[in-house]
Amino acid sequence: MSTALTRDFAVVGGGLVGAAIAVGLARVGLKPLVLDGEDLDMRASRANFALVWVQGKGVGAPHYALWSKASAELWPSFAGDLFENTGIDVRLRQTGGFSFALSRDELDHLREDLETIESETKRASPPYEVLSHNETKERLPELGREVVGSIYSPADGDVNSLRLLRALHIAMQRAGIDYRSRHLIDKIEPVNGAFRLTGRWGSVTVQRVVLAAGIDNQRLSPMVGLSTPLRSSKGQILVTEKCAPFLPFASGTIRQADEGGVMIGDSEETNATTVAEHTDVATVLARRAIKTFPLLADVNVIRTWAGFRVDTVDGLPIYEQSAQFPGAYVVTSHSAVTLAAGHALSLAPQIARGSLSGDFDPFRSGRFHVRQAA
Ligand SMILES: Cc1cc2nc3c(=O)[nH]c(=O)nc-3n(C[C@H](O)[C@H](O)[C@H](O)COP(=O)(O)OP(=O)(O)OC[C@H]3O[C@@H](n4cnc5c(N)ncnc54)[C@H](O)[C@@H]3O)c2cc1C
Repeated sequence: MSTALTRDFAVVGGGLVGAAIAVGLARVGLKPLVLDGEDLDMRASRANFALVWVQGKGVGAPHYALWSKASAELWPSFAGDLFENTGIDVRLRQTGGFSFALSRDELDHLREDLETIESETKRASPPYEVLSHNETKERLPELGREVVGSIYSPADGDVNSLRLLRALHIAMQRAGIDYRSRHLIDKIEPVNGAFRLTGRWGSVTVQRVVLAAGIDNQRLSPMVGLSTPLRSSKGQILVTEKCAPFLPFASGTIRQADEGGVMIGDSEETNATTVAEHTDVATVLARRAIKTFPLLADVNVIRTWAGFRVDTVDGLPIYEQSAQFPGAYVVTSHSAVTLAAGHALSLAPQIARGSLSGDFDPFRSGRFHVRQAA
């Protein structure tokens, strides 16, 4: 690609965030250039637990609770569109989700969080039920006796996350989007109201740019007057061999994928520097899973992986247009499976129009600066 080339729009990053934004831009008639990294880049989009999860999200941040809920509600039409455009069924299942408690304290804590969210959202958060052991077992006969109770919310669900990433990429292709892998951006320079993006492959000048480079947003954002403070958060997941269906609901820690394998996760390490899996962490995950569903003691773990979340200091997304260099946006989000529908159907059209609605104000990065100054 030569420096003489100009485009209207570029999206930097083709993970779940960049691909969902690009697909959303295409729906409103734009064809962004998508510049992505190397095949073997560490992508949270290939390491996640695949939940479309609302329950418990947004304690102290009602805007996030409602945004997660809104995205979950958009998911059926988003999945339908993806199927129509690509022929790929992302296996969306929104039959509700359980959070299992192994002690009374855990159950109280889960319930208190949901009560807080309910009150902070003025009862606009999804409904939930607090279930005893027996009530949970009526719905899930394989439940272990050490589970003291659970919370169930009908708003939760899951997908097949690898199918989702694939479907988004095929949707980009079908929409005529110019997607380029091995096009890492090293540098972004604002030039006369436009942006010059440079990598080892060359450079391109664009009028508008969306930063969706996952963890690398932290490095790229200041180049366009934005900021993306991230924290290190590593998660590990175990996957078992396929077994007979026993868990027709999602859960934050155990889910049976559409293909029959059981995913167990996910942990959080905040001081890890490598992506290598940790056997101590795996042991804790497996023990808890067996207490929750004892039948798992007889099922073999066949795979385990770990990945770094794209997680901000307060765990909430950052959505912002640069005040200093209008036309540059950042989209950084953990939970980009849950939020994929919102990113494509709600956020992308606003980026296309050139401004984000006031609903996105609380997601600006200025919130971090206020806290530091306080
Ligand atoms: C263990 C784990 C469990 C999770 N579970 C869930 C879950 O159940 N539900 C949920 O909603 N979310 C979950 N997540 C979070 C979700 O996976 C992430 O929010 C999402 O993948 C972030 O996508 P992304 O596109 O921002 O980042 P990434 O997937 O990291 O993609 C970034 C992309 O940008 C490219 N890139 C990087 N730097 C550059 C550059 N300089 N120039 C060009 N391209 C660049 C990379 O090559 C890559 O393709 C989980 C994450 C982890 C790690």
